[in-house]
Amino acid sequence: MEPTQSLKTIVVAEDDPSSRELVCEILEAQGYHVVETGNGPDALDKIQKLIPDLVLMDIQMPGAGGMTVIQQIRQDRRTAKVPVVAVTAHAMAGDRERILSSGFDGYISKPVDAVLLRQQVRDLLRAGTPV
Ligand code: MN
Repeated sequence: MEPTQSLKTIVVAEDDPSSRELVCEILEAQGYHVVETGNGPDALDKIQKLIPDLVLMDIQMPGAGGMTVIQQIRQDRRTAKVPVVAVTAHAMAGDRERILSSGFDGYISKPVDAVLLRQQVRDLLRAGTPV
């Protein structure tokens, strides 16, 4: 990470501890400020408080799943523009389209591939950087 680059905050919402730990370790190693959460309502709370640069969100979580939380994020004008990527083991035909049409900015399949994750996160953060 270049020293002049401002620290980007990423919220990782995932209820499975081992999956969450893996994603957080990959992102922390890249120098990002990572905030983790294990359920939908807490994810929404942290996103509203932090207004992060990026959110990685599991679809199936206790309390409120990713499909519910994304609606709440998009309906709130403070968080409407925050990039949110779905992270899910769902690989059925049509799921990708369903997820993208629900307001997510991208889609990452589980199990997470570290190389692909780093690339996608870098691309999303670059796209979200104001010129
Ligand atoms: Mn889950």
